[in-house]
Amino acid sequence: MTDCIFCKIIRGEIPCTKVYEDDAVLAFDDIHPMAPVHVVIIPKTHVATLMDVDAKEGTIGRLIAAAQEVAGIKNVAASGFRTVVNCNADGGQVVFHLHMHLLGGRKLEDQMG
Ligand code: AMP
Ligand code: ZN
Repeated sequence: MTDCIFCKIIRGEIPCTKVYEDDAVLAFDDIHPMAPVHVVIIPKTHVATLMDVDAKEGTIGRLIAAAQEVAGIKNVAASGFRTVVNCNADGGQVVFHLHMHLLGGRKLEDQMG
C-alpha cells in the first residue's frame, strides 16, 4: 500500500531508528514513546489489522520471534515488558499496518485500558 506510513518506513522513504530487522520483520523506536523502551515491530508485508492476518501463516510467529530479539537488544528480557497489538477504532489503532508495540524499562501500569 503506497501511502501507508509504515510501508514508507520499510521502503526507506521515511527515516526510523532501527532496532532489529530480518527478512520478514522490521522493528524501530516509537516516535512518541510511552515508556523508556517503546519499540514498534511490523511485518514487511502490508497487512492492515490483526483481523486481516492469516493466523495459520507465519506472520504472528515472526513478530513474536522479533519481540524476543528486541527484548534482548533493549535489555528488558529479564526485567519484563508488555506487548500490545491495537485493532481498529475501539482498540486505539491509528496506523493501519499491523504492528506490535513492545513497552518496558519501567514498571507498567496494571490497567489494560
Ligand atoms: P497504534 O495506535 O497502535 O496504531 O500505534 C501507532 C504507533 O506508531 C504510535 O505509537 C505512534 O507513535 C507510532 N508512529 C507513528 N508514526 C511513526 C514514525 N514515523 N516513526 C515511529 N513511530 C511512529
Ligand atoms: Zn503498510
